[in-house]
Amino acid sequence: MSVEALNKPTRLCGDAAEVGAGGVTTLMGGVCRDCGNQTFPRTPVCCVCMSESIAPAPMPRTGTLYAFSTVHVAAKKWKNPMCIGYVDLPNGARVFTHLTGPLTIGDAVEPIMGIVGEDENGPIESFIFRRVAP
Ligand SMILES: [Zn+2]
Repeated sequence: MSVEALNKPTRLCGDAAEVGAGGVTTLMGGVCRDCGNQTFPRTPVCCVCMSESIAPAPMPRTGTLYAFSTVHVAAKKWKNPMCIGYVDLPNGARVFTHLTGPLTIGDAVEPIMGIVGEDENGPIESFIFRRVAP
C-alpha cells in the first residue's frame, strides 16, 4: 500500500454523503417513487409500501437532535470518547450518526465531514452532526 493510500481516510459512509462547493456536506438518502417516503440511508425496499423503486435523494441540510449518548469505552478503532445519537430530519428520516461539540436535545444540527476513528489502514472519515451556529 502506498504512503498516499495510508494517509487518505477510509470513507465509512461511502456515497451516503457528498461534499459540495464551499465544503458543504449533504447526506444522500432515498425517496420512494411510488409513495414519496424518504429514508436515510437509502434502502432497496420502501418500508411503507414495499416498492423497490427507490431514487437517490439529497436529505434536508438541517435536523433536530432527538437523542444522544457519549461512549467512554468505545471499540478499538473509534475515537474515545465517542458521541453518537439520532437526528430527526424534517422529511421524516431519522439518522443514526456521530456527533460533536456541546449538544442539547432539541438542538438544530447539521452534517460536516470528519475523522471518527482510525484502523490499520489509517483514519476513518464519516459525516458528523454538530450544532448549527446561531
Ligand atoms: Zn413507498
